[in-house]
Amino acid sequence: MSIDDATGNVFLGIGVTNGQAYGKIKFLNSTYNYDFKARSSPNEERQRFLLALEETVNKTKEIAKRARSTIGEGEAQIFEIHAMLLEDEDFVDSVLSLIKTGLSSEEAVEKSGEKYSNVLRALGDEYLSARATDIKDICQGIIDTLQAKNDKKEEDSEPYILVAPDLSPSETVKLDKSKILGFVTFEGSATSHTSILAKAMGIPAIVGVGEISKNYDGELALLDGIRGRITIRPKEIDVWEYKNAKAKENKLAREHERYLRSIMHRPAVTKSGKKILIYANIGEASEVDGAISNGAEGIGLLRSEFMYLARNNLPSEEELFIAYKMIAEKMQGKRVVIRTLDIGADKQATYLNLEREENPALGYRGIRLCLDRQEIFKTQIRAILRASAYGRISIMIPMISTHGELLKCKEIIKSCEVELKNKGINFDSKIEIGIMIETPASAIISDILAKEVDFFSVGTNDLSQYTYAADRQNSRVSGICEENHEAIIRLIKMASDAIHEEGGWIGICGEMGADLSLTQELLDIGIDELSVSVPYLLGVRGKVCASN
Ligand code: PEP
Ligand code: MG
Repeated sequence: MSIDDATGNVFLGIGVTNGQAYGKIKFLNSTYNYDFKARSSPNEERQRFLLALEETVNKTKEIAKRARSTIGEGEAQIFEIHAMLLEDEDFVDSVLSLIKTGLSSEEAVEKSGEKYSNVLRALGDEYLSARATDIKDICQGIIDTLQAKNDKKEEDSEPYILVAPDLSPSETVKLDKSKILGFVTFEGSATSHTSILAKAMGIPAIVGVGEISKNYDGELALLDGIRGRITIRPKEIDVWEYKNAKAKENKLAREHERYLRSIMHRPAVTKSGKKILIYANIGEASEVDGAISNGAEGIGLLRSEFMYLARNNLPSEEELFIAYKMIAEKMQGKRVVIRTLDIGADKQATYLNLEREENPALGYRGIRLCLDRQEIFKTQIRAILRASAYGRISIMIPMISTHGELLKCKEIIKSCEVELKNKGINFDSKIEIGIMIETPASAIISDILAKEVDFFSVGTNDLSQYTYAADRQNSRVSGICEENHEAIIRLIKMASDAIHEEGGWIGICGEMGADLSLTQELLDIGIDELSVSVPYLLGVRGKVCASN
């Protein structure tokens, strides 16, 4: 929503993270309005292209190296393949001959890329079609390098406030996070995955502001995550106030953080003596170090689907195994709860070619997809089981809504165990199995489900949207759950009583777990664990220690 103040440049939305930011705004993809005109003679264009190509190859190899040490082998291999495609002789010759005809380097790269992708797509093979997307990506890389060399370099090297109509989780995981001061999206709600990623990155964000004109691209703006407000071309006095407030806020935050850090390694025990586990929610292996340095006693939710998003094909068992093993080893015997693939709805991987649905949140997602395309599920389960030999891993299944689904999942896990055993591969034969409570059905039949599992973890983001029939992506209705949480509390209590009856444990891994105004209420209904994004770990621990 835009409001009229003296400047008319204020937009209101939902504040996702509490910080503030000041900087230039940049619209997602705004750098793609390229100037494709030929700039110089074919000879000079040839030189421009060859230099850009070399730089792009080096950059890509560098990314592959970084991916290997931070995300995993699978992602590293993708970039290595990209580097190889860049150096492909036929591709380079095709670009050079187009340049000879008088095209700019950008046009020649784009046209050659299109030609090669079309040939691959026409072969009708799933693997080769995925390579076609790789070719588009690498051409984009060369064009970016060519353009950055001309005029975008300075602008692109500055951190900015990212503005986008909406940001899918796969777009978000591909962003260079070191460049982003804050997010603003036209759509979305506090529990959309974009918001969750913004929280994990600890950067200020506002969602659901409605449309902002692209004419503002490149303007200075003040983003206030506390009030859910972005002011474009703010008055000098507002910027001055912001800088002052920021300095004070930083000082207070530093003092509070010092206190929280001092209790970081103490168990989180309430005043009445109950020990609560404080775990971290993460989306990729690179977040583990942050979780450890902020006192996480375990990983309560690994959103494993994020490793399936920033890529063009399904990860192999080996790639998944390497990533899970790395996390388990880094956590040194502390619990790592791997949620099995929860893809679908807003988390789409194009290579899965999922059909468009009228109501994707109520559709083919999570465990429904995995029980249908069992090879995908089994590959992941085998990888998790193999990694369980290197740490303390638990399997958690998302979106369970019937007893039958859970029994089928357990059967598949058993069959994977037998397969590994027959091959003499080690795994934890007593691996914990849990489910997410995120459909009202699962809470209502939690007494039946509790008999089958070791733990429940409540996904309050989905549990809220399904209980209140309020789309978590839709900012016009998502607030209903935040203001009225009684129905959710009752459902969680049902699940809590049920699992305790069977001797298991229950945690919260949805965003409610980080809402300090609800901590006491959650503890009162018997919650044993709170799993939150890394930047919230210290605060939640402090709040638990101050609760009854
Ligand atoms: C949830 O639904 O609360 C949850 C933790 O899962 P996700 O946000 O990834 O859907
Ligand atoms: Mg969920």
